[in-house]
Amino acid sequence: MDEKEMKFGTKAIHAGVHPDPATGAIMTPIYQTSTYVQEGVGNHKGFEYSRTKNPTRDTLERSIAALENGKFGACFGSGLAAIDCVLKMLEPGDEVISTNDLYGGTYRLFKTIFEKYGIKFHFVGMADAANIEDHVNANTKLIWVETPTNPMMNIIDISACAAIAKKHKLKLAVDNTFATPYLQTPLDLGADIVMHSATKYLGGHSDVVMGALVCKDESIAKEIYRIQNSSGAVCGPMDAFLVLRGIKTLHLRIQRHCENGREVAEFLRTHPKVDKVYWPGFKDHPNHEVARKQMKDFGGMISFSLVGNKLSDAHEVVRKLKVFSLAESLGGVESLCGHPVTMTHASIPKEEREKAGIVDSLIRLSVGIEDYSDLIQDLKQALN
Ligand SMILES: *Cc1c(COP(=O)(O)O)cnc(C)c1O
Repeated sequence: MDEKEMKFGTKAIHAGVHPDPATGAIMTPIYQTSTYVQEGVGNHKGFEYSRTKNPTRDTLERSIAALENGKFGACFGSGLAAIDCVLKMLEPGDEVISTNDLYGGTYRLFKTIFEKYGIKFHFVGMADAANIEDHVNANTKLIWVETPTNPMMNIIDISACAAIAKKHKLKLAVDNTFATPYLQTPLDLGADIVMHSATKYLGGHSDVVMGALVCKDESIAKEIYRIQNSSGAVCGPMDAFLVLRGIKTLHLRIQRHCENGREVAEFLRTHPKVDKVYWPGFKDHPNHEVARKQMKDFGGMISFSLVGNKLSDAHEVVRKLKVFSLAESLGGVESLCGHPVTMTHASIPKEEREKAGIVDSLIRLSVGIEDYSDLIQDLKQALN
C-alpha cells in the first residue's frame, strides 16, 4: 500500500519500516556499528560510516518524515541539536523572528550561542500573527514558531505565519513537539521545516533524548544532511530503535493524553484554589478557533496558576502530588508536573518571563495515560 494513502495509525506502524533485508526480522535491528565493509573502493550497500548514515536511524528518519507528510527526515542527539542544525543554515547578520514564550532551552541556544555568531533574534507574541510583520526587514531569514507554546499554551496560526513567510521569502520552522504529527502537520499548513524533541511524545516512554527535523524541499534537505554530517550531532542506533518502537503506539497514546487532558483541565477549572487554567480546548481560550482549525484535538499539556499567586504555594502543591512526579520533560506515558519559574524557564530573565505570563505560581502538567480519576484524586489532595 502506498504510504501516502495510509491513515495515521497504519503509517505509525508501517511507514518507512521494512523487514530487515538480511534476516526478515520484522523489527528494525539495532545496527550497532560504526562502519560498513566495502566490496571495492566506492562499491558499498549505501552505508559507509554511521555518522553519515546508519540503517536503524535511516528507518526512523523515514518513519518520522512519513508521519509529518514530509519527504526527508533527519534525527539528532537531542531536540536542541536539531534546532542547532536549523540555525546553522543562517549567516552572521541574519535575523530570526521567534515566538516569545519559547521552550527555555531554545531561548538559551538562541541567546547564548547563536547571538554570539552575529544572528539577531526578535521574540514576538505571535497569538496575533500580524505582529510578526512589524519585525521583518531585509536581514530576516527565518520565522521560528512553537505551538502550542510552552508553558502558556498559546496557539499560533501556522497558516497565517506561512503566508507571511511566503510574502517576504522567509523560511518557516515549527517546533511540533507539543502537538505531535497525530494532532497537527505543519508542512501541510505551509511550514518549510518541522522540528521535534523526540524525547517527548514521539519516544513517549521517558527513556531517550533525541531530536528530529522533517522537510519536503530537496534543497533544504541537502543543507540539513550536510550540517548533520558535518557537525555530527547524530543519535545512536539504540535510541533510534527506542523511538521507532515508541512511534508504533503514538496514535493510541495521544488519544488517551487528549482524553485525560480534557478531564484534568475541566476539573482544575472548577477548583476554588486555582486561578487560571491554560488549555487550548476551552471554548474561551483566546485562540480556540485556530486550535480547532489546525489541530485534531487539544493534547495533554495544561498549565495553571493559583489564587494568590505565591511561589511557596506552587512549591507545596508540586511537593504533595504523588501520581504526578515532579520532573522536567513531558510527553511520556506517566504524568509529570513542573514549576516553570524555577525549572524549565529559570534561564529566561524575569521580565521576559512575566511579559509572557509565566507567573510565580504557574504549574505545568504533562498529563499521562493513567486512569484520569486517579489523576484528579491526586490533584484534589495536593490542592486541599
Ligand atoms: C524538550 C523540548 C525541546 C528540546 O529538546 P531536547 O530533546 O530536550 O533537546 C525543544 N522544544 C520543546 C517544545 C521541548 O519540549
